[in-house]
Amino acid sequence: MEILRTIDLCKSYGKNETKVEALKNVNISINQGEFVAVVGPSGSGKSTLLHLLGGVDSPTSGKVIIDDTDIYSLKERELSIFRRRKVGFVFQFYNLIPVLTAEENLLMPLLLDNKKPDIKYIEELLTILNIKERRHHLPSQLSGGQQQRVSIGRALAYKPSIILADEPTGNLDSKNSKEIIELLRYSVKKFNQTLIVITHDLNIAKQADRVISIEDGIIAKDEVVR
Ligand code: ADP
Ligand code: MG
Repeated sequence: MEILRTIDLCKSYGKNETKVEALKNVNISINQGEFVAVVGPSGSGKSTLLHLLGGVDSPTSGKVIIDDTDIYSLKERELSIFRRRKVGFVFQFYNLIPVLTAEENLLMPLLLDNKKPDIKYIEELLTILNIKERRHHLPSQLSGGQQQRVSIGRALAYKPSIILADEPTGNLDSKNSKEIIELLRYSVKKFNQTLIVITHDLNIAKQADRVISIEDGIIAKDEVVR
């Protein structure tokens, strides 16, 4: 079943001689439960695509349809609520709030929405992510791998249907990278989520169901690998 689709998605930055066409007529369709790796050279438009899929930037033209909703036709406020509930983001540099504990960071999306956390599920997340003993620590008191596990927890806290990760292991050593990817794969399977990961790591791309290659703002290859 399709969960996400783009229609002639275009994004350009700047004007006249400084104009950059970061994405040119991108058409992709992604099914629920798929694990998609996005690869391509630096500057090819990968992050731009991910941001547009997650509703954090707006396209120059074209559409992003998630669960039959044309997300950029929503009002600003509706879009931010939609984003919080449907999409979980994981970034290379974790983007945790430094003055909040691991647990508070993890609960952030729910708190922003005045939602009561499902305690059982949150405890389960802390256990799966192996951060229970660190729940009251600040990000600065955690290792890179632990910080990334907290940020995965934050992405999963709302049980979103789509997880978007922009080079989530780009800042980690190979042992931690392996753990992070295993955790992401495990949780998306368990909760039947769709996972889209930008990566330079061939070992990660190899584990995906599908690999989309972007070159110069265009989908150069789109291969189902398993
Ligand atoms: P990637 O993630 O594949 O490295 P990006 O999506 O970040 O690529 O960038 C694609 C192109 O768009 C690059 O040429 C980049 O310089 C340009 N770009 C990205 N963000 C901006 C911005 N905010 N303003 C101007 N140009 C940008
Ligand atoms: Mg990028």
